[in-house]
Amino acid sequence: MESALTARDRVGVQDFVLLENHTSEAAFMENLRKRFKENLIYTYIGSVLVSVNPYKDLEIYTKNHMERYRGVNFYEVSPHIYAVSDNSYRSMRTERKDQCILISGESGAGKTEASKKILQYYAVTCPASDQVETVKDRLLQSNPVLEAFGNAKTLRNDNSSRFGKYMDIQFDFKGAPVGGHILNYLLEKSRVVHQNHGERNFHIFYQLIEGAEEDLLRRLGLERNPQQYQYLVKGNCPKVSSINDRSDWKVVRKALSVVGFNEDEVEELLNIIASVLHLGNIHVPVGTLLLLHSVTHLKSPLNLEQAASARDALSKAVYGRTFTWLVNKINVSLAYRDETYKNASVIGLLDIYGFEVFQHNSFEQFCINYCNEKLQQLFIELTLKSEQDEYEAEGITWEPVQYFNNKIICDLVEEKFKGIISILDEECLRPGDASDITFLEKLENTVGGHAHLTTHKLADGKTRKVMGREEFRLLHYAGEVNYNVNGFLDKNNDLLFRNLKEVMCMSDNKILTQCFDRAELKDNKRPETAATQFKTSLAKLMEILMSKEPSYVRCIKPNDAKQAGRFDEVLIRHQVKYLGLMENLRVRRAGFAYRRHYETFLQRYKSLCPETWPSWQGKLADGVSTLVKHLGYKPEEYKLGRSKIFIRFPKTLFATEDALET
Ligand code: ATP
Ligand code: MG
Repeated sequence: MESALTARDRVGVQDFVLLENHTSEAAFMENLRKRFKENLIYTYIGSVLVSVNPYKDLEIYTKNHMERYRGVNFYEVSPHIYAVSDNSYRSMRTERKDQCILISGESGAGKTEASKKILQYYAVTCPASDQVETVKDRLLQSNPVLEAFGNAKTLRNDNSSRFGKYMDIQFDFKGAPVGGHILNYLLEKSRVVHQNHGERNFHIFYQLIEGAEEDLLRRLGLERNPQQYQYLVKGNCPKVSSINDRSDWKVVRKALSVVGFNEDEVEELLNIIASVLHLGNIHVPVGTLLLLHSVTHLKSPLNLEQAASARDALSKAVYGRTFTWLVNKINVSLAYRDETYKNASVIGLLDIYGFEVFQHNSFEQFCINYCNEKLQQLFIELTLKSEQDEYEAEGITWEPVQYFNNKIICDLVEEKFKGIISILDEECLRPGDASDITFLEKLENTVGGHAHLTTHKLADGKTRKVMGREEFRLLHYAGEVNYNVNGFLDKNNDLLFRNLKEVMCMSDNKILTQCFDRAELKDNKRPETAATQFKTSLAKLMEILMSKEPSYVRCIKPNDAKQAGRFDEVLIRHQVKYLGLMENLRVRRAGFAYRRHYETFLQRYKSLCPETWPSWQGKLADGVSTLVKHLGYKPEEYKLGRSKIFIRFPKTLFATEDALET
């Protein structure tokens, strides 16, 4: 039999907190690698789950596995996404506090898969009634629908989410899932009209063309060949070996009816998808001009380039708004109807794009990376900072841990008047000669001196070599990114010719008339810019998350080749760094696993000690002190603060919990 020591040599420790040398990045990496080789993809840092994408199906998601994690103490079983799911569920039930699970990591790291596993766990293990079965089905089936319309094959991930998603799962007082609600963020609309080499448009286009029945295709005027459509040939990648568009089509069709679409609605939805393909095929040199002229009565003639871009703007607007409509429609079907469920408890799941750095970074990457700064800020607020603040407030002595607070970068992006978004909006509103370049100049003049921003002009000789003239560089918490300002103004304005909007309002497609509201035409106010809308929705998201108790899943991508068994040290070390895992571990090691208010602690455990049972008359702190001494807590296991007891190791609390049960 293998001794405990050699087993640990082979499979590493299941919580990084247990590493002998917890400040060593090499030791951290070695532990991760050992476990990965043994197919142990999950490891904790305290209560944070680190997950490495195995790129192969592991037999660890069966019903048996789910049962194994149900109602068990977090630390008594091996690390698993089900343990995190169960822990959040139980905290919600016992402490009556809403929860959220924040899943982060770069593209292809496994965020969406993780969120699906969590949802499946609740669908299988939570109590149910007949009505609840429908809700469970709808919750589960909302995924294939949203993925069909919002995911695409990219160079990094064959099923990359091109939108951010926050989903509330609502539970009734019995703990049964009774409803849900989805918030979506910033769909990458530009993909509808353009894809980089080796990438595809959104899945639904190919699913429709490959999977639809002959007569449906005929009604939509489509041919069964993606190569026929300009919007599908840009990436030169119609087929992907890991994707079966035809069978996915069947799954999506079924899912659409589960989430409550009737046949007519499905047909109208697909009609829009087909129209976008047809739009893309309108030949620009002559056709577009004619079409735009005759259909929209554009008063001023457009040149060729303008005509093509007006056409593409229309396609993007139609697709983008249809996607939002789809999310709303799913929300209606997930909404819980029964009044008695008003006081539902909630577990929120956040699956949002990770930090992105490409050769060429544009407005989209700027928004995505800004979002990641905000999430990092939230992580700092909720874990690092709040943990340290609490020790200070409670008068607990301990060695503070240094960490970089990225608030300075968030401010640089979002501050009123002098933040990058404000400056961009200002240029978007300014009549006359405003352009992407004048925006860049304004950045130089306004925030040029900022420690986290550089441009070609401001940079010293060394940096200049790698920076283009049309770029600005942000020093993010996760590293440097150069953004090319080309297209920033247009993308931020996100305007559509008024005439085109009018035509959309007149459409006899019911979905389109809901997407393009007539009221919008009467409203002469300038719509909010894309960046400002995004900023506002992120601020709302932060508020939602702040009001809940968070759990973290940190996903890591092991290699760029999407291959099983390959552990690319350089790539992984980089992710460990910008996910802040080493800082996280240092804080965790320095800190205490559990804390409870004296009153709560006494209330729960007073029966274990004759002096505190049935009630303690003296000061609360003294009562707790008496109680833990009676229980045999050693001095190094706990500390008493001003209002709370701090317990260093989970096992101490588990032992006390066990004593309660016997
Ligand atoms: P993006 O930001 O691009 O949306 P993501 O982090 O959501 O990326 P996923 O789509 O979840 O990444 O994962 C990418 C692929 O990796 C999956 O399609 C699947 O093939 C594989 N994968 C991820 N997690 C697992 C897992 N736990 N077990 C097996 N395969 C996995
Ligand atoms: Mg995803």
